[in-house]
Amino acid sequence: IENGQPEKKAPLIPHPIKNLEVKHTKIFINNEWHPSESGRLFATHNPATGAQICEIEEGDKEDVDKAVEAAKAAFQRGSPWRQMDGSSRGRLLHKLADLVERDRVTLATLETMDTGKPFLQAFFIDLEGCIKTLRYYAGWADKIHGKALPVDDEFVCFTKHEPIGICGAIIPWNFPLLMLTWKVAPALCCGNTIVLKPAEQTPLTALYMGALVKEAGFPPGVVNIVPGFGPTAGAAISSHMDVDKVAFTGSTEVGKLIKEAAAKSNLKRVTLELGGKNPCIVYADADLDWAVDATQQGAFFNQGQCCTAAARIFVEECIYDEFIKRSVERAKRQVIGDPFDVKTAQGPQINQDQFDKIMELIDSGKREGAILEYGGSAIQDRGLFIQPTIFSGVGDHMRIAKEEIFGPVQCILKFRTQEEVITRANNTEYGLVAAVFTKSMDKALSTASALQSGTVWVNCYNALHVQTPFGGYKMSGNGRELGDYALAEYCEVKTVTMKLTQKSH
Ligand code: NAD
Repeated sequence: IENGQPEKKAPLIPHPIKNLEVKHTKIFINNEWHPSESGRLFATHNPATGAQICEIEEGDKEDVDKAVEAAKAAFQRGSPWRQMDGSSRGRLLHKLADLVERDRVTLATLETMDTGKPFLQAFFIDLEGCIKTLRYYAGWADKIHGKALPVDDEFVCFTKHEPIGICGAIIPWNFPLLMLTWKVAPALCCGNTIVLKPAEQTPLTALYMGALVKEAGFPPGVVNIVPGFGPTAGAAISSHMDVDKVAFTGSTEVGKLIKEAAAKSNLKRVTLELGGKNPCIVYADADLDWAVDATQQGAFFNQGQCCTAAARIFVEECIYDEFIKRSVERAKRQVIGDPFDVKTAQGPQINQDQFDKIMELIDSGKREGAILEYGGSAIQDRGLFIQPTIFSGVGDHMRIAKEEIFGPVQCILKFRTQEEVITRANNTEYGLVAAVFTKSMDKALSTASALQSGTVWVNCYNALHVQTPFGGYKMSGNGRELGDYALAEYCEVKTVTMKLTQKSH
């Protein structure tokens, strides 16, 4: 303590684990590790180097069937999991959070190896979100209740909120551990059992979590993890007659397939977190430097591979030229390179398919007449790395203004009036997130009300909180994750009505 003030310590910078050995590569069912029924394996690669990290057991329908059987047995009436009370489930979730905290560096290292995202981002953002989500739902586990409802005549009525049963979870590759936690934590909090499939590109952290689930003391069969591909293992979950609900994050295209499979099988409940083409509106009275910073961070964060990417940045005419100038200056400072280097802000794209898709969309922007202000190319001899790219003069009709790019590409559009920009911002099939930058409270609130979007950020971006719901309007999805809203997605509501023989009043 100096002058009555606590000594200020520099924030501790964690170091990734060098040459980390991958321990868990098998299918996790009933708290045990299994080879795949088919005997097949698939490789997972480090996108920063192209090197193969290891081979993983490739789950398919037969493995999903085994996992569902285990999840069903764990959900049987009278099973240890069903007999466990809410506070004990909460304790287990806290224990899991403790173990994730203990192994935070290992998990962040695995996540960076598998995704190519900067290690410090994995450590401070993904892992932080994961731990907070587990603790938040640990707290809810003994607070899930229905209502007593007054009705006409001589009846007593109340509702009970009960677990749905066997919940499928299908996870994307952009935030593998975070998206897993957004599904697993509320599902377990409400007393469900789980069959989860990580993305084929990024299975490592999900499998590691299997080991932590076992160590935390969850009964066998409560969490089952089947790595594998979408059309095989993923489709086996979404079409399974004994899976009661499926939660999915990924492309809108696959979201539709999942809903179709649910409809054709047992009408399982479906929640979907899909794509976005998210508008940011920067009014002339905004704090310009902050708006430049926040919107570009929103566009380039996680190599642009975010459903929440700041995809269409509408800038008011009188600040448009200055906004572009400052955005280009900022993009020049973006440090791209080895994701394990603490200075790196941008790593590689996830794989060749995504890289090719982004480069093709960049080419379409050039062809359709957008002005390339910065970047626009691959970084020579660096595999999957793409220059941070800025287009101005983007027209609403261009493909780069309509399609999800999922890469480090910032599209800047010009507007004149509030009415005009609201109409244009809403002119999309998506409705996930939006942002407004202005110092006027009236403008902020009237714009926020008019935007068709599950989240609106005012003078901030990517400000996600575990306490608030997240999900999309229109084709960005169905249902909500996070907050107490997510609990409704993992419970059935039962009405109990009792007839009285005497008047109770
Ligand atoms: P995807 O939607 O194909 O994959 C997401 C998950 O769905 C993976 O686990 C995959 O194995 C699984 N899957 C694929 N086909 C399936 C099927 N028929 N049945 C059940 N599960 C299936 O995403 P992708 O092909 O890896 O990426 C394509 C595009 O999707 C990206 O360019 C991006 O636009 C979008 N995407 C969005 C998000 C998001 O967070 N909303 C995440 C990843 C990708």
